[in-house]
Parts: sequence; structure tokens; C-alpha cells
Amino acid sequence: MAEIAIVGGGPSGSLCGEQLARAGHQVLILDEHLAWEKPCGGGLTHKALEAYPFLRENAHPKKVVRDVELISSDGQRVLLQMSHPIVVYSRAVLNGLLLDRAAHSGCRVLQSHVTAIDTDSRRPRYCAGGQWHSADFLVLAAGARNSLFPETRPFEPAELEMTQGYFVPVSRDGIQIKFLPQFEGYIWSFPRNDHLSVGICGNMAAHTSNELRLHLHEFLGREKISTEGARFYSHVLPSPQERTLSQRPVVGRNWALIGDAAAWVDPLTGEGLFYAMRSGELLGSSLAEGAPEKYPARVKAAFSADLEFASRIVRRFYRGTFLGVAVTTHLVQLMRRSSVLRQLMSDLFSGTQDYRSLKRRLWGHLGISVSEFISNVLNLEQPASAVTCAGSDTAD
Ligand SMILES: Cc1cc2nc3c(=O)[nH]c(=O)nc-3n(C[C@H](O)[C@H](O)[C@H](O)COP(=O)(O)OP(=O)(O)OC[C@H]3O[C@@H](n4cnc5c(N)ncnc54)[C@H](O)[C@@H]3O)c2cc1C
Repeated sequence: MAEIAIVGGGPSGSLCGEQLARAGHQVLILDEHLAWEKPCGGGLTHKALEAYPFLRENAHPKKVVRDVELISSDGQRVLLQMSHPIVVYSRAVLNGLLLDRAAHSGCRVLQSHVTAIDTDSRRPRYCAGGQWHSADFLVLAAGARNSLFPETRPFEPAELEMTQGYFVPVSRDGIQIKFLPQFEGYIWSFPRNDHLSVGICGNMAAHTSNELRLHLHEFLGREKISTEGARFYSHVLPSPQERTLSQRPVVGRNWALIGDAAAWVDPLTGEGLFYAMRSGELLGSSLAEGAPEKYPARVKAAFSADLEFASRIVRRFYRGTFLGVAVTTHLVQLMRRSSVLRQLMSDLFSGTQDYRSLKRRLWGHLGISVSEFISNVLNLEQPASAVTCAGSDTAD
């Protein structure tokens, strides 16, 4: 039985703790806030709900959403009716649920701010409440906005997205996603049980916070969403590049990173909750076997190869043009005409379709012009090297 300290009790830390406690280890989870309203959309895709059915089957308040409206930068709209709905949680509720499960499985959960760590000695140490403590292994699950990165580098601005948003006290039913001209990111509006989480994300190296604020307020005005009584939030979100995912170390002899701290986020959609939980679970099972070194390969097999694929196409997706029209606008236009493409996008959105096996599905199911557009945008033959879309120009 090993003593394991987990810094951060968000989705990644809680799932990891639960796994380890069930395997008989002595686990301490330290979180400065415990169950809090972490800035987030709170949307869980079908793949997360399939992997963790308890997230669907419980009495906690949550919103089941079937309609997703995509809006192009020039205001064209298309509605996706999801055969696999998205479930939207308030993060205070979600974090509370996951921390309760960790505590019930035997973890000790403590509200405490960890100010420093030291992984030089055989037993790693962490400083909390002004005192140093040691453990057999240290799991760092403290999210993207922290500086506790042992033997590895912090994120660079190009590897992060800035986010801003509001928790608005209104009730809505559908999700909205709005693309913006020449903008690496998007605006979202996610309805929750008793409020709306509406916000914007944009690459930190490419956009300023002022730019984000202006775009968001223009959207709020256009969609008639009042910010009266709303609570403002801002946070950072990893937007991993290919090298972030393939080169940045996530495990050492007595420490490991999980969730946002490891940059396990889809750079195209910003989905991080599923990857946080899955990475926590995979590290938990590797550690429980006494083999933490197996963790990176397990993550690669489970999902990070797909995230690497997404990181290669993200720029072209948001900033590229096809036949003189923004890729995102072209996509909305084609979806308005093709129900098969709408189904494909719903499946990508819900996580039942991954990026890497997209090619197999394209030809034969979609018309030639749609297939050509998508495989050119994604550059399915050579995603790593090419910058421009064939038969098109790009924004750069
Ligand atoms: C605005 C926004 C919208 C998003 N929307 C979605 C969405 O709709 N769907 C989706 O799948 N993903 C979304 N994400 C991503 C998702 O929020 C993250 O991927 C997910 O929260 C990562 O979980 P985590 O456990 O790794 O980190 P976190 O959830 O960030 O948890 C880290 C925990 O560590 C604690 N902590 C930090 N530092 C310390 C310290 N020094 N000492 C003690 N405790 C510490 C914090 O209190 C926190 O509870 C969004 C992100 C943002 C910023």
C-alpha cells in the first residue's frame, strides 16, 4: 500500500484518487477550493457518458441537450439534432459528485493550497499549510493555471487558450457555437439546469483579451442575452500543439501530470472533461499496478494520438479558406444542404466519430464535393506537413 498525494480535486484528480483508493492505496486529495464553479461550459459528450455512465444516471441537476446550432462568421445558421445528447453540468455539481465518489472509495479529501513541490528525493514532497509533507508518489492534477510542473516546462502562450464568459441567470434549451472571422477559437452558449454558461475561447498567442471581450459582447447583443445579474469569469484552457502532446514529459520516477496539467484537451473543440477523467483513470490503473511508466503509452492508445491529429488541423480549420470562403462558413453552408454531413458533424461533436477514422467514412457516404472539401481541409493524406488546402488559399 503506497501513500499517494494528489494536488487538485477536479475531474482528473478525483477519478485518479478513486481508482487508487479502490486498489487499496492510501490517497490524499488536496484542493484549494474543493467543489467549486470552475469556469467551464460543463458539457459532457456521449463518449464521456458512455465511459462513465454514473454521470448520466444520478439525481444531480444537469441539462440534457439535443440541439446544437452552428453559426458562421457571416451569420448563416444550421441546426444539428444530436442522436446522442450532450449533458451539461454546473461544475460545482460535477466536481462535488466526483469528489464524493473519491471520498466514498476511501480517499482523504482536504481543502488546502499547495504552494510548492519537490521531486528531487526518492519520496516527493509538497508544501501545504506552511509545512512540507512527503508521499511515495505525487500526482499533479492542478489544472492549466498553476505553476507546479516538476522536471517539465510550463505552457507557452501558443499552447493555451484564453477564455472569458458569463454565468447568466436565464434558461435556454439548445447549445450555440459561433465562429468568428480570422479567429482561432469560437463563442459557445451552453444551457445548464438553472443558468447559461456563455463564453469565448481564443488562442493566447493570436488574440488579445480585448478582442475576446468585443466579440463576446457583440454576440450577446445579437442573441439578446442580457448580462444583468450575470457573473463574469475568465480562465485558461490548454490548446496543445503536436509537440506538446508528443514531447512534453508527463511522468517521472515519483510524479505524474494528468488532465489539463498534462494538456489533455482537444485543441479543436476545447473538450477536456473526458480526457481529464480518462487520464486520471489511466494513471490510477498504471500506478495501482506499480508501473507508472506505462501511463503515456496507455494515454496514446486511448486518445492522445487523436488529439495530435486535431492539433495538426486546428489552424487550417479556424483560419483557412476554401475557394475564397472561410472553412467554417463553407462547412455551415454544406451542412445546411447535406443531412449526411450534419450527421457526421453530430457524431464528431458527440465523440462517437474520432478524427483519425474519418477518412474511411468520408468517401462513399458523402457527395464528392463534400468529401473533397473535408479531406482537403483536414488534409487527410498529409496532415502534418501541408499548410494550405488544395484548390484553396489560406488566411496566412
Ligand atoms: C471556459 C472553459 C470552458 C470549458 N468548457 C468545457 C466543456 O464544456 N466541456 C469539456 O469537456 N471541457 C471544457 N473545458 C475544459 C475543462 O474545464 C477542463 O479540461 C477540466 O476542468 C480539466 O480537469 P482537471 O481536473 O485536469 O483540472 P481542473 O478542473 O482545472 O481542476 C484543478 C483543480 O486543482 C485545484 N488547484 C489548482 N492549483 C492548486 C494548488 N496549488 N493547490 C491545491 N489545489 C489546487 C483547483 O482548485 C481545481 O479544483 C472548459 C474550460 C474552460 C476554461
